[in-house]
Amino acid sequence: MIKAGCGIRAQGQNTGFAYKSYFSKGDCRSGLNMVCFWNMTDTAENTGAETVPAQAQSPATAAAEPRPKSDTKLTPMMAQYLSIKNANPDSLLFYRMGDFYELFFDDAVQAAAALDITLTKRGKHQGEDIKMCGVPVHAADSYLARLIRKGFRVAVCEQTESPAEAKKRGSKSVVARDVVRLVTPGTLTEDSLLEARSNNYLAALAGVGRMMALSWLDLSTGEFNVQMVQEGGLAASLARIAPSEFLIAQKLYDQDNIQAALTDWLDDAIAQPDSLFDSINAERRLKDHFSVSSLDAFGDFQRAELAAAGALLDYIHLTQVGKAPRLNPPRQVSSGSILEIDQATRRNLELTRTLSGEYRGCLLDVIDRTVTGGGARVLAARLAAPLADLTGINNRLNAVTLFHDNAMLRHDLRDVLRGSPDIQRALSRLTVGRGGPRDLAAIRDGLSLTNRIRALLSHASDTLPDLLAKASDDLGLHDMMVDELEQALSDDMPLNARDGGFIQTGYSPALDHQKNLRDEGRRLIAGLEGQYRQETGVDTLKIKHNNVLGYFIEVTAKNADAMGDVFIHRQSVSNAVRYSTVALADLARDISEAGDKALAMEQELFDSLVAKVTEQSGAIALNAAALAEFDWATALAELAIEQRFVRPQLTDDLSFEIEQGRHAVVETALAKSGEGSFVANDCNLGRDQHLWLVTGPNMAGKSTFLRQNALIVVLAQSGCFVPAENARLGLVDRLFSRVGASDDLARGRSTFMVEMVETATILNQATERSLVILDEIGRGTATFDGLSIAWACVEHLHEVTKARALFATHYHELTALTQRLSALAPHCMLVKEWQGDVVFLHEVGAGAADRSYGIHVARLAGLPSPVIARAEDVLHTLERGEQSGAVTRLIDDLPLFQAAASAPPVAAKGVSVSEVEETLETINPDDLTPREALEALYSLKALLSKA
Ligand code: ATP
Repeated sequence: MIKAGCGIRAQGQNTGFAYKSYFSKGDCRSGLNMVCFWNMTDTAENTGAETVPAQAQSPATAAAEPRPKSDTKLTPMMAQYLSIKNANPDSLLFYRMGDFYELFFDDAVQAAAALDITLTKRGKHQGEDIKMCGVPVHAADSYLARLIRKGFRVAVCEQTESPAEAKKRGSKSVVARDVVRLVTPGTLTEDSLLEARSNNYLAALAGVGRMMALSWLDLSTGEFNVQMVQEGGLAASLARIAPSEFLIAQKLYDQDNIQAALTDWLDDAIAQPDSLFDSINAERRLKDHFSVSSLDAFGDFQRAELAAAGALLDYIHLTQVGKAPRLNPPRQVSSGSILEIDQATRRNLELTRTLSGEYRGCLLDVIDRTVTGGGARVLAARLAAPLADLTGINNRLNAVTLFHDNAMLRHDLRDVLRGSPDIQRALSRLTVGRGGPRDLAAIRDGLSLTNRIRALLSHASDTLPDLLAKASDDLGLHDMMVDELEQALSDDMPLNARDGGFIQTGYSPALDHQKNLRDEGRRLIAGLEGQYRQETGVDTLKIKHNNVLGYFIEVTAKNADAMGDVFIHRQSVSNAVRYSTVALADLARDISEAGDKALAMEQELFDSLVAKVTEQSGAIALNAAALAEFDWATALAELAIEQRFVRPQLTDDLSFEIEQGRHAVVETALAKSGEGSFVANDCNLGRDQHLWLVTGPNMAGKSTFLRQNALIVVLAQSGCFVPAENARLGLVDRLFSRVGASDDLARGRSTFMVEMVETATILNQATERSLVILDEIGRGTATFDGLSIAWACVEHLHEVTKARALFATHYHELTALTQRLSALAPHCMLVKEWQGDVVFLHEVGAGAADRSYGIHVARLAGLPSPVIARAEDVLHTLERGEQSGAVTRLIDDLPLFQAAASAPPVAAKGVSVSEVEETLETINPDDLTPREALEALYSLKALLSKA
């Protein structure tokens, strides 16, 4: 196996060729068991003798000091490298040399470390070794993926002419090269660099006057959005979009208030020159890109929106080096149309990632039943941005309902969709000039499903809800395109068009002729040989081939007289005479050229097919979006049936009634582990009890209950059915949660500070329409401080905010507030004490809990038994008396370490408990007479008083 990185290079002094061997690190260590010599055919570059005045300086410092030292002498290749590197100072430069991308100087140091490949060196520059490493072109994608994941940007520099062409300009000419693409995290299109089931957004933040707008697009699918934002909503919007790359206008980046508002996104923000965000240029760019004279048809954009969207277009132009990808027209996302979920809430609810950043175990993971990449992306996007308008939500729910109620249609559709390739991404690659034959095949296979889907839908055509009716229309008619692609493409698909072999026989007679010549050369030569034997009557005539003459006709010397005028004498050797003919020469030339010609013709056919697809790209994109819509709706219907989810009823009022609600993730986890089943619970936050105070023991299920109700809102408003028996929900405008506690040391915030910042956000921003879940407010500080804060928060939520809210707490003292606050309803998690143990029922009941059973949970967690015993002691003392007095008594009475040291437990006066127990064990009360029982009691007492 050949891997990147380790190189032994030897300059071929005399030939002008340089060779290097590449093998893996492991191979290097174990010996030369796998060596590949690479011929740097770029001849002129490797003679390396000639020097030219420097145009640039060492790239190791190029980014910082782009000006070269004027007295430096450089080889032509080094001069070319440095000038390209200087134009791309922020990117690692992948410099194409033959079959490798080479990296030099500091780029090489960084890449070798990031990719764990060997750093080597070659020659000197300004007295210093030139560090280098390389990756093979055929495996470049995987190396690119690793670099991009580690936060690098890569400028891919290709040879734009062949060494032969360069030679024509002089033997010392350097092969022309240019950057053909900047690979950045937000502009990827390759499947190998992308996650199939999630979007990959590039976002930009622009400001015009006092207004700001965010724009974000996914180059790999063509999705393009724009939205006005305010400082306070910036972090939440970015958390919703989760861009892979985030550009920001320099003047915004320089403002302290914006930096503060960006919170976690500040480190990822890439400041760009303000000129990129000029709204007038932006408008022009947008019009040019979409070939329209006015943008009115797309929306009524504000200048900040234009600036943000235009900046993205410009950036795409820059990174794709002029290629114009297919994009949907920018879609305006209006503020208020989306359920607002701030960053902390989104994280806490683990919608699309768990708290530890993983996909496994998040809500999306548990509910995803989609069968295509496009459907999965729609599901993820909708779950991340639930709606806040009734019509939109009901449209989605209607679509899911149709498939929920029609099992046959659902199954049939899902069967068809299962075979659907990712048309969106294939289309995007083709339009950006990075597609291959397999992308054409994906378009063919995807579009070919259209008629089958339409036929299935025809049974329900009268009942199709709006969303599905539109999707059905969007499927479009693609018979001609499918026919064309079916005729053109063969079954075996190479990755790259340049490899050829993907055009079906019969599609192009001219191509078939060339391929025939290439493949059937031997047969054609044999045919000519037979023809000449017949014409000359020489049965031993042969057509042969050698490197000097090429193809030639050979007869024995005694048959030379039989050869007529058409045979041109080439050579006489001992006993044989050799000839050529015009026909043989033509055939030989055709055969030798046929391979190249066939490849060139296939490339032309590929380009023309791509042009046809590009011409239809709008309609194909609509088709792809429609397939994703069907996948989304059928998958949610499938989920609903499988997991007993119901359609929620969304209303305009402030109701909130959930009957037998469940937590989808906890329920799935319990089912998988076999640790029992989930206990469903009601939640009714009507106006007369819109604030529930939830108390109960640790581990009883308070947090689960709080989150499940928030998740049901998220699911409902994103158009999903919900895990409940019944749900009637007044539309929620904003969702807030404060659960769990963690330090934010990176930003210098303690656990308690984080808790208070999140609480402040809720109290300041929640409205009557919001849903708030608050878990354990005030737990991060001293008991009385915490209780006071929790107390005041409950009052504020009840009196001022008036939001529907669930407030879980261990401060049982707060239940006193229910006497004064009419809409504060006390609820508790029920437990049963049995044989001295506590059983969690996970049921929510009316009323307040009186204990937290924290020590019980501590025992379950495995705290040492002396510590548990001591804790119980302390708890009893504290519960009995005045706190301050009790504490003094505790200090005097029973030091912890004395308790810890006294194991095994000893009863009063030093008698071993086991002795008493042992005696007790021997007694069977049923066998004793009253007198014997009395005697047994005396003997036990005697045992105790022994010492
Ligand atoms: P603490 O006060 O210690 O934070 P808690 O009361 O918030 O605890 P949860 O974290 O919600 O308790 O739940 C603890 C565990 O109990 C969960 O991990 C889950 O396994 C189980 N559980 C919670 N609710 C239910 C339920 N309704 N049905 C079944 N099991 C549940």
